[in-house]
Amino acid sequence: MTSTRTALTLQDMGWTAATAAELTDQFNGGEAGYREVKAPFTNSYLYALPLSSDHAVDEAVARARSSQLRWAATKITERIDVMLRFHDLLLRHREDVLDIIQFETGKARRDALEELLDVCVVTQYYARTAKRLLADRAHRGAIPVLTSVREVHHPIGVVGVIAPWNYPLSLALSDAVPAMLAGNAVVVKPDVQTSLTAGWCRRLLREAGLPANVYQLVTGDGPTVGARLIDQVDHVMFTGSSATGRIVAARCGERLISATMELGGKNALIVRADAQVGRAVRIAERAVFANSGQLCIAMERIYVDRKLFEPFVEQLRNRVAALKIGTRPGWGSDLGPLINDTHLDRVSGQVEQALAAGATVVSGGRRRPEIGPLVYLPTLLTDVTVGMDLCGQETFGPVASIYVTSDDDHAIQLANDTEYGLNASIVTADVGRGKALARRLNSGSVNINDGYAAAWGSVAAPLGGRGASGLGARHGIAGLLNYTESQTIATQRIWGFSAPAGISDRRWADLLARSVRIMRPLGHRSKGAS
Ligand code: NAD
Repeated sequence: MTSTRTALTLQDMGWTAATAAELTDQFNGGEAGYREVKAPFTNSYLYALPLSSDHAVDEAVARARSSQLRWAATKITERIDVMLRFHDLLLRHREDVLDIIQFETGKARRDALEELLDVCVVTQYYARTAKRLLADRAHRGAIPVLTSVREVHHPIGVVGVIAPWNYPLSLALSDAVPAMLAGNAVVVKPDVQTSLTAGWCRRLLREAGLPANVYQLVTGDGPTVGARLIDQVDHVMFTGSSATGRIVAARCGERLISATMELGGKNALIVRADAQVGRAVRIAERAVFANSGQLCIAMERIYVDRKLFEPFVEQLRNRVAALKIGTRPGWGSDLGPLINDTHLDRVSGQVEQALAAGATVVSGGRRRPEIGPLVYLPTLLTDVTVGMDLCGQETFGPVASIYVTSDDDHAIQLANDTEYGLNASIVTADVGRGKALARRLNSGSVNINDGYAAAWGSVAAPLGGRGASGLGARHGIAGLLNYTESQTIATQRIWGFSAPAGISDRRWADLLARSVRIMRPLGHRSKGAS
């Protein structure tokens, strides 16, 4: 474990004042003053973020809007080329962005790398599929042969992306890239803590050939800058807590604009009686402590079959004891500090409340200021009961509670006993049984014999939450078509739907009824085929 109290500054990344200024110039900020941003590794001053005024938000959206039609009119192949050039630049300059992410978030470098890989696979997937997914589609018309129909997808216009601090690279790009491929302009509002990563991305997008105004950034607090943005864009892609999600969704509802909401979770990992304990422990360790647990799809509740409970707890405790906590940028650590004082208080408050109410510490359960001011030890608890905040509310830290289960039904019942429905995991030797159980989990994604990366990395399939975990999904077909408005263009040939001249309404009704009867087997066949 490393220990340091020295302040980190942008100069530690080898930056000159000029490079820093070039990055902060990417924001439409400054008119509303500056906000001190601290590096979580040391909880000390990193840089001053220029904040966007109302006027700057309006201007950013106006600039995005003025560029959007021309961008949408470029060939899809040109838009794909820009994104693939960006993808290549991102890989080439990866060490730079991993530095920035670590400085802003304090996360382990391997967690920062996961973000980078996410952006790359998402960009590759949509570069491969966008042309096909956005192409017009022919459908069977109302009257076969006589009605022809095309489904057309238009870009929505300007998409507002509001993002949290935990995955600043992923969340500045993984939704914005498909939105831009679909012909939209985007205005991103990152969290105040992690705007620099987004500024770096904007500079790289421009280097890749993206017209300057297609990707805009605004900076500042959610209730002011975020709300102003929602009031002007045509679609909102929001990622954040369920509490904020409700406010954002209501505001979008007032304007009757569409929104995709990716929210919090209280994810459950089930260890079946047939699981190999060593494997279950390895999966659980990564699933709980990735990004210090500040990951929406991380596991916070572990349900272990009675037969394996003791060896599982013992082996997981030993594994957790060996985790390396890092407080400097660079490779080699397993997890870092939490993001800020407020969040540290929230995480430790939940644990303290649970301990006071009878929970038992297996591992951790306290701060370690001598390692770093925002360090909280990786924590495992047992004897957590319903009514403790830790049991039902998202913790979003390096903390999991472990529960005993008597069989599969019991595990499923406990796992589903939550208002959230984001991610889940089942560890089992019987994959067939695991897949059957997965269908009974009220969760947008379920990973069998993995914690979260299998579903997250499978970007051809949608990823989204149920219940308090969200509305809609990113990834897959939806992750592109979310940013389009469909239009149905139907052409009627020869006859319309009213009775032709010389045929009475009664006779026409008879003919229509007969035609509908003839079409019945066609309907049946297509239903069976799907
Ligand atoms: P948060 O909801 O506090 O903030 C998220 C973003 O919303 C920030 O940019 C913030 O400035 C903005 N915001 C806040 N109030 C707003 C308002 N009234 N109007 C408009 N914007 C507003 O979330 P957080 O604490 O930054 O992030 C952690 C949360 O994000 C956790 O709950 C986590 O589970 C969730 N998350 C979900 C996913 C997912 O894909 N489901 C991914 C990452 C994080």
